Amino acid sequence: MPRQYDLIIIGGGSGGIATANRAANYGAHCLLIEQGPLGGTCVNVGCVPKKVMWFAARHGEAIKQASGYGFDVHARGFSWQTLKQARDAYIRRLNGVYGNTLDRNRVDVENGCASFVDPHTIRVNGDLFHGHRVLIATGARPTLPDLPGSQLGITSDGFFSLEQQPDHVAIIGSGYIAVELAGVFNALGTGVTLIARGNRLLRGFDETLSQSLAEHYREQGIDLQMNRSVTSLAQDDQAKLSVRFTTGPDLPDLNQVLWAVGRTPNTKGLQPEAAGVLTDAVGFVRTDEWQATNVPHVYAVGDVTGRVLLTPVAIAAGRKLADRLFGGFAERRLDYSNIPTVVFSHPPIGTVGLTEEQAKQQHGDQINIHISRFKPMSQVFSRTEQKSVMKLVTVGDSEKILGCHVIGEGADEMLQGFAVAIKMGASKDDFDNTVAIHPTNSEEMVTLK
Ligand code: FAD
Ligand code: NDP
Repeated sequence: MPRQYDLIIIGGGSGGIATANRAANYGAHCLLIEQGPLGGTCVNVGCVPKKVMWFAARHGEAIKQASGYGFDVHARGFSWQTLKQARDAYIRRLNGVYGNTLDRNRVDVENGCASFVDPHTIRVNGDLFHGHRVLIATGARPTLPDLPGSQLGITSDGFFSLEQQPDHVAIIGSGYIAVELAGVFNALGTGVTLIARGNRLLRGFDETLSQSLAEHYREQGIDLQMNRSVTSLAQDDQAKLSVRFTTGPDLPDLNQVLWAVGRTPNTKGLQPEAAGVLTDAVGFVRTDEWQATNVPHVYAVGDVTGRVLLTPVAIAAGRKLADRLFGGFAERRLDYSNIPTVVFSHPPIGTVGLTEEQAKQQHGDQINIHISRFKPMSQVFSRTEQKSVMKLVTVGDSEKILGCHVIGEGADEMLQGFAVAIKMGASKDDFDNTVAIHPTNSEEMVTLK
């Protein structure tokens, strides 16, 4: 007889853990099944170790700029190994914290790969468990393209395992991970070539941000190779890698090649078909606006649904689902509009709402653009000409804000507050009527012409 649970959660990442804890707080008897370390992508090979590397890179940049402020310093070296050891230890601590919290909330945890037997029965390590409800929160993993030699390259998972700092890397892709890791490597002293198949970085973001980031990266010495399609990777006798393209010369003499070309859902081992759960052509689980799959009592949250692959989205979707299923909040669900996001590039980008292009498509010539480009005060003693950019996209005479886009120092921390205002329906007048905080970069946002 399988053990019985109110809710079985498959996947102990951001979405799964948040749902389990919230459901258990309402008194639901929960089982969480995780095949790897607790915390999932974000904690182990995502946001957290990435942000540690971003902080390290920022220290590198600060040291370079310090002479302008009178400091006689220069870095005598940088130890990748020291940083990696500290980072790994920090993550091990976090794994323990997640385990303790689940324990405190009386969530049972099974370690192993879960697969469906039927809509209510899950198999783990040969044992069967019965869930009145089942949540799929199995996330996604880095995509490795099916090209000759592709396995010679690493992915973001491999980046976090690197024991040595490479001299020269090629990063293939131009999305979040490509631009974030390009910035980190470059600031820490690795030569970086970023290879994009299209003509811009961060397709899908406001074009002003893409252009500005490309200018920053070129000025910082990152080699941006746009409109280049990779056909294969090869390795020579000295273990040096090269990238080959449909047209143009190879890119030789690389220590590492890093694929950053999107994510593949973790649904293969799960066997959702055994429960009749539908996935799309790539394998992402199909869900409606209530996080429900096509099978009653089976739900999905987070990256495995393929909708806005961000940690706070997985957490919010899971918590709201638990509120609805176990907390008596019958109408609670995640609203996927106006989700703010930050790209931890160098400098960072913060963005929420519609891009100028999207706003034009929806509202035509009703839209207004307000933009400011300025050199941040902290940079006045440095030789860089790098500009911060702030942009508001508004609509109609009321100038309701549709989009807010920032690139520059502090963008990562300033966007959350602006996102609250925009979620509440703020207009340009509301911003203008807010007294500025001086001297800051964010004051530009409430003094835009
Ligand atoms: P995951 O966290 O991936 O968790 C899924 C878990 O399910 C995994 O632990 C996996 O082992 C487990 N699992 C899979 N299949 C099974 C199975 N059959 N049985 C048992 N267990 C299984 N987001 C941000 O918001 N901010 C950032 O700065 C950010 N940086 C990122 C940097 C990188 C390099 C990457 C790769 C991602 C980043 N993300 C960031 C995205 C974020 O990590 C994900 O959106 C988030 O982790 C998704 O959570 P999840 O719960 O859906 O999936
Ligand atoms: P993204 O979707 O951001 O970017 C994928 C990139 O890969 C695009 O530039 C795309 O190009 C390119 N691409 C896709 N297929 C190929 C191919 N066959 N050859 C060459 N290029 C290709 O995915 P990432 O992997 O960068 O990140 C995964 C997700 O994780 C992100 O979407 C984001 O949701 C999340 N994340 C969030 C972060 C944050 O919040 N700061 C940080 C890191 C990740 P094209 O544009 O032409 O399609």
